Amino acid sequence: SIPLGFFGGIGSASKQGVLVKGGNYLEALNSVKTVVMDKTGTLTEGTFEVAKLVPEDKWSKDELLKLAAQAETNSNHPIAESILRAYDGEKINTEEIDSYQEIAGHGLQVVVDSKEILAGNHKLMEKEEIKYPTTKESGTVIHVAYDGEYVGYILISDKIKDDAAAAISGLRELGVEQLVMLTGDNERVAKSVASELDLDKYYAELLPDDKVTQVEELIRDRDENDKLVFVGDGINDAPVLARSDIGVAMGGLGSDAAIEAADVVLMKDKPSNLVDAINVAKFTRNIVW
Ligand code: ADP
Ligand code: MG
Repeated sequence: SIPLGFFGGIGSASKQGVLVKGGNYLEALNSVKTVVMDKTGTLTEGTFEVAKLVPEDKWSKDELLKLAAQAETNSNHPIAESILRAYDGEKINTEEIDSYQEIAGHGLQVVVDSKEILAGNHKLMEKEEIKYPTTKESGTVIHVAYDGEYVGYILISDKIKDDAAAAISGLRELGVEQLVMLTGDNERVAKSVASELDLDKYYAELLPDDKVTQVEELIRDRDENDKLVFVGDGINDAPVLARSDIGVAMGGLGSDAAIEAADVVLMKDKPSNLVDAINVAKFTRNIVW
């Protein structure tokens, strides 16, 4: 059974913007040794900005952006939002969209006026057998193809959250031994974020299922009494939130499915809110025992 004091702990947590779904999770937060974080929307703002449009010779920048905007018009992925913000051409007629498919970790496959538009990463191009150039861009590259033909790419950049570095050092001070980042984004972006934040490990180009596999592996390798936290913004994160010892969703951005699957919800959209959560857990334990 859970000591009564934990209810007080849950109350103090909520004052810090931390919603804990049970005293057992508050107790478990005392034993966190591994923190696994999703990149986009958790460590980074998740508000991408279009930095560059690079069409093939026979296409213009406007045409490239319009095709991408047509494909992304029904998506609520942060990448889609950035493309739609950058697009200021004529209004997109959603009635022309014949079919729409969002492929997790890849991008979009949309049929507009009987012609297929692809917008996504190199994995999507490979899957659909579209030849694409290899780039050395440092950022997220969204390739666009139209009717089987490569049109060009859009370079999108994200920003590390202002308080991410403080969160990382706060977690280390609280005894977290291993900080790991998981991302569906490309190797180059992952490497630069992980090295800027001085993380212990990162895994890039992961599909949602690969994130589950990676977390399962980390759980297998750890000491039985050490707990593993996964923190995500919720987009495609529900399975991995459920699989972790303590699944933590960033509340502000989080989808309903993620808030449902999470054990702890951080209402401040800041990674440092996890430091608050562990501090409340430690404080509560001192009162309870
Ligand atoms: P993360 O793991 O960093 O949260 P996601 O799993 O959401 O990232 O996405 C991984 C990659 O899949 C993106 O970096 C992008 O290349 C591609 N992708 C996902 N959704 C879209 C979309 N709506 N449009 C274009 N590309 C997308
Ligand atoms: Mg994500």
